Amino acid sequence: MSAVRSAAAVKPSSGLATLVLDGFGTNVNMCFQCGRCAAGCPIAYAMDYAPAQLIHALRLGMEDVVFNSRTMWLCAACETCTTRCPQEVDIAKVMDAAKILAVRRGFKPAMSSVRAFHQAAMANIKRFGRMWEAGMIVSLKLRTGDYFKDMDLGKRMLRKGKLKLLPSFTGSRRAGRIFSRVKSVEREEIEQS
Ligand code: SF4
Ligand code: SF4
Repeated sequence: MSAVRSAAAVKPSSGLATLVLDGFGTNVNMCFQCGRCAAGCPIAYAMDYAPAQLIHALRLGMEDVVFNSRTMWLCAACETCTTRCPQEVDIAKVMDAAKILAVRRGFKPAMSSVRAFHQAAMANIKRFGRMWEAGMIVSLKLRTGDYFKDMDLGKRMLRKGKLKLLPSFTGSRRAGRIFSRVKSVEREEIEQS
């Protein structure tokens, strides 16, 4: 029996697993802990829990372990794990789910700088329709208070013309419509959860 066909027969083991299945369409209970995801993950060395461990904690409903973990905040969304999983568990999507659920439940992100980067990047794209790196850097610095980190790198990028001093607003209206639509879908999902 293929992983896809047997997935329907495997019921979520915990409330957390049910949330991930219902909200994100991934059944973590298909995992049989082979460890292939963790073995292929290029960021696993920096994570507090390897991807397979985080999946197992989700299955056991260990909210504190999952939502206080650094793992999902460090995930680079490269999808190597998803590609390697013999059980077709979309681990990269589970990492997104863990981040979204942690924020919704009021857990302080274990990697606050990563969360700040996400917020700065999204706000930038929403406003300008595409990434304006110089503005994004200013926004990130204001969120983190880390004003002097990477100054030399910034200067080098400016010298090489990699940082535009003024933004372009091309696509900003379309981006605004997309963000509004996503917001209303999120509101519907939260109401249903
Ligand atoms: S590769 Fe898939 S089955 Fe193996 S441990 Fe990771 S999630 Fe579980
Ligand atoms: S998607 Fe994330 S968890 Fe999966 S291999 Fe890439 S960095 Fe690791």
